[in-house]
Amino acid sequence: MDTITTETQFTSGFYAKRDIALVQGRGATVWAEDGREYIDCTAGIGVASVGHCHPAVAAAIAAQAERLITCQEMFYNDQRARFIGRLAERLPWEAPRIFLCNSGAEAVETAIKLARLSTGRSGVVSMMRGFHGRTLGALSATHKKTYRQPFAPLVPGFSHIPFNNTARLAEVVTEATAAVILELVQGEGGVRPATAEFVRAARRICDERGVLLIVDEVQTGYGRTGRFLACDHYRLQPDLLCLGKAMAGGVPMGAVGIGPRVQNIAPGLHGSTFGGNPLACAAANAVLDVFAEEGLVERTAVFGERFLSQLRAIPSPQIREVRGMGLLVGVELKQRAMPVVRALAQRGILALTAGATVLRFLPPLVISEAELDKVVAEVTAVL
Ligand SMILES: *Cc1c(COP(=O)(O)O)cnc(C)c1O
Repeated sequence: MDTITTETQFTSGFYAKRDIALVQGRGATVWAEDGREYIDCTAGIGVASVGHCHPAVAAAIAAQAERLITCQEMFYNDQRARFIGRLAERLPWEAPRIFLCNSGAEAVETAIKLARLSTGRSGVVSMMRGFHGRTLGALSATHKKTYRQPFAPLVPGFSHIPFNNTARLAEVVTEATAAVILELVQGEGGVRPATAEFVRAARRICDERGVLLIVDEVQTGYGRTGRFLACDHYRLQPDLLCLGKAMAGGVPMGAVGIGPRVQNIAPGLHGSTFGGNPLACAAANAVLDVFAEEGLVERTAVFGERFLSQLRAIPSPQIREVRGMGLLVGVELKQRAMPVVRALAQRGILALTAGATVLRFLPPLVISEAELDKVVAEVTAVL
């Protein structure tokens, strides 16, 4: 049986599948089993930031696979030590601590648990249109009703307020609140940047009321917005910072950066079997090397601006608004986005949606100028 038939027979059925079987990738290009070639503006949903199968990442994985693949965190490990030392330098605190896990949702779960433990409170205030993952705790912070409702009751203590609404935040955050959690650019929620005013107010309100501020940078982190962290755009020092997606070049990995206001947690209260494994850490070290050698953050700032202004110049009555930061870009349409995604695939461009009417582009940060020009040309043709 061929790939699509077999998957169709045995897969969970959890995903709205596209009719393409991808079997190979390099840089911003992926190839399907039928030989068709695509420019990949999905990048595994913002995972392949250094490009698919970057040679340095592939070599690091291969070398570490010959040395040591698993090493639970009860033991020290050279790759892990090197990685957390390097990541710490890029986090917005003098002396952060770092917890390693295997996905974005796990990072969010951890941040929520730490906030509850540290404050002795249970309330969590999150944002409408926010997305934080699908496990029960993370899902409780996620806003979308169709994701939440079938699994109710969720974790108690969560409330959602309109994003960028300072007055509502000031009303809802109380002495019973453990944490406020937000994305600095809402990704799944439609590519919506936070206003500087809202972020400043969130920091101030949290400070005044002894509440921890959790920033979910699972999608915005690692250069995606044109700075290493979206926090850097806002000069924001959160208390907990969640990372995931792009960290290890496609190997599953998540992390929580823990700031100085979070109380130390006693050994045994939280953990992970695979978290901080040497294979993921070796890949993550190679990813940081690629970021430095190829100047990916600076490059993303320049190419992102150019891409945004080219998209804004498309003269189509179907476009309502073009939003974004770096190479996290959304085109809000006056129609449903999925038919446009399908039409783009016919023309060799893979793109995402973010809600019903937003077309989303999350290309590898190594994408070339020529490839981005081709994307703009095909979007123009379709719209
Ligand atoms: C993707 C994403 C998550 C969830 O990450 P998983 O690895 O799928 O669990 C959480 N928060 C944000 C902002 C995301 O974009």
